[in-house]
Amino acid sequence: MPEPAENFTVACPRCCKRYVVSPAAIGKKATCKCGKQFVVAVPEEDVEEEGGGDYGVSGGAVAGPT
Ligand SMILES: [Zn+2]
Repeated sequence: MPEPAENFTVACPRCCKRYVVSPAAIGKKATCKCGKQFVVAVPEEDVEEEGGGDYGVSGGAVAGPT
């Protein structure tokens, strides 16, 4: 699972307030000022892979975070 090397920004899914968090907070729960609890996740634009997208894997089970 790719992780950003530096602090990054997450936004509350309810009120869209932004918080700066450290990579250590990934996967942990955060509570917004509005009361909404959400799991800290890496923004999609930071984990986008270029040149990928080939999932033609044959045989075996593929398991991992999505
Ligand atoms: Zn909020």
